[in-house]
Amino acid sequence: MSLVAPGVCRHCGCTESNPCRLQDGDTCFWDNRERTVCSNPSCRRAEGERMARAKAAAKAARPRKLTSAEVHELIRSRGRSRKKGRAA
Ligand SMILES: [Zn+2]
Ligand SMILES: [Zn+2]
Repeated sequence: MSLVAPGVCRHCGCTESNPCRLQDGDTCFWDNRERTVCSNPSCRRAEGERMARAKAAAKAARPRKLTSAEVHELIRSRGRSRKKGRAA
C-alpha cells in the first residue's frame, strides 16, 4: 500500500508542476477531484482496474446470499434426513 497524497498522480507520480505529456502533445490534468489520478490514458486505465479490484474485494468481504438453487438443495437434503428411518 502506497501513501496517496493529493496533487500527485498515484499511478505515474506526476504533479501539477511536473505534469506528464499526453500523446496529443498536451499536458495532463486531474481526472478526479481528489487530484490523485491524472488524465493520462494509462493512468485512467490503471485507476479503472484499481476501482474494479476494490469493488470485487468489497463484494467478497460481504456474506454471500444463497442462490435459489442452493436453497432448494438445502430443503431437499433436510427433507431426506427427516424421512430417514421412518417405519414402513
Ligand atoms: Zn498519471
Ligand atoms: Zn500525469
